[in-house]
Amino acid sequence: MINFLPVIYEDELLYSVIARYKQMCGMVSNQALVKDLFGRLIIMKSTFFPIHLNAFVNNLPPTSKITTNEIIINHTMFPFYTSFLSEEKAESINEIMVEGNGLAVESVVGFGGSKVKIQRYLRYCPICYRNDKEELGESYFRRSHQIVGAIYCSIHQVLLKDSPVLSTESGFDYKCADAEVCDEAVIADPYPIRIKELNLQYIHNAERLLKGNYPKKDLQFIINFYIDTLRNKGLASNSGNLYMNELQEQFLHYYPAEYLEIMQSCIDPDNPTNWLRIFVRNNNKNRSPLRHLLFLQFLEVDVDELFQATTVVGKRKVMSEFTPKFDINERRTKWIKLIEENQGASRSELKEKGKGLHTWIFRYDREWYEKVTPRVKVKKQRTDTIDWKKRDEECLKLAKEAVKEIMNKDGKPIRVTPWRIKLTIGAGRWFDNEKLTRTQQYLKEVKEDINDFRIRKVKWAINELNKEDERITAYKVQIYAGFGGGENEVRELIQKVLEENL
Ligand SMILES: [Zn+2]
Repeated sequence: MINFLPVIYEDELLYSVIARYKQMCGMVSNQALVKDLFGRLIIMKSTFFPIHLNAFVNNLPPTSKITTNEIIINHTMFPFYTSFLSEEKAESINEIMVEGNGLAVESVVGFGGSKVKIQRYLRYCPICYRNDKEELGESYFRRSHQIVGAIYCSIHQVLLKDSPVLSTESGFDYKCADAEVCDEAVIADPYPIRIKELNLQYIHNAERLLKGNYPKKDLQFIINFYIDTLRNKGLASNSGNLYMNELQEQFLHYYPAEYLEIMQSCIDPDNPTNWLRIFVRNNNKNRSPLRHLLFLQFLEVDVDELFQATTVVGKRKVMSEFTPKFDINERRTKWIKLIEENQGASRSELKEKGKGLHTWIFRYDREWYEKVTPRVKVKKQRTDTIDWKKRDEECLKLAKEAVKEIMNKDGKPIRVTPWRIKLTIGAGRWFDNEKLTRTQQYLKEVKEDINDFRIRKVKWAINELNKEDERITAYKVQIYAGFGGGENEVRELIQKVLEENL
């Protein structure tokens, strides 16, 4: 039994507590330390998932009130990594941590097979480190800095730094967050503001998972929740089939490629099995909490909303309710026959010929319909006769009109981007054809630089505030333009525009 344990700080990793104990006792040997703490020699491999916690707690001084459960919930990465796992799986991980029964926790959590790798080193925030030393006389490793994908300290909004302390290693050394492994220098931030915003939002959600101790939901429930949300957003059919292409397009529009790379979640849009395309599928594959959070953030859903939901629908079997008389196979057979009898017919011709049948299949059996119903390709001769030059001119005109429309729109300014132009025109994929050279060139040139766009927004906000006869301050402009409160970079820009306008 040990005589004392140092005070455990908020959000401190148990690993860090043990390291400080070691330092306070002046111990050198790790073996002696482990024997001291656990009553016997055990092998600890992970700073995130300590094991043999029962032995540890039983070995604490009688005055100590801390329980294994409190350690697991407040001082390990357990709540984060098990948030999206079933009750059963979380329970078995909990058991390994309590008893340490020989299984590697990491493999049960799913680190091994996951494409999202945990970071190799323990991380820290240079400002937290400095403040701790001033306020506490020492610093410590925090859980929130070890969240996979988190690149900032959520409090100080500066980049986290790698210490040389390995996060996972066989029989590691216990090292404190002290001058030997940490320093106070803040790293210059190379990332655009959009990436910072996205990441801070991500960290906010991840910290909620760390601290929320939410009830567990099984994968089926979570997938059904996603399907319901996508349906509400018009990204899934009534029966719950996903409109994958649109979903992917919007996802890639929401997240810059650079950010997805930072988050180990790049997407090749042409790969039919990229992670996003299989994410909402019902298979038993392990999904990293990072990707769940990315997906929820994209859906603009709060983590609370998911974990507090009690009922979900998911896919609906719409057809059986509506058609007691016919079974689906019968309809499918009829539709196939119709296609065979009308070879070369376009989809709208087929629709015309098989009126009621088409309506039903299109509505309730859409996925199958898309698979079997041919799209009539534009005939060869016609392809050759397309006057690309003329089409290019027409498209260019459309694009220019769309830009005008976007720029002249009332209300808060909208950024001019190729995507927005396409949306304004209502154009489909054909608009991206590379034979439309002048149009493509124009789209590239007209894309509004983010800084220009901000200036335009700032000017608009000033103008609007002027109309209201208000005293104009940089802060008011910032909020009115919708930048949020805490952006120094934006604030400077506003000051500059205000000065120029005086
Ligand atoms: Zn900090």
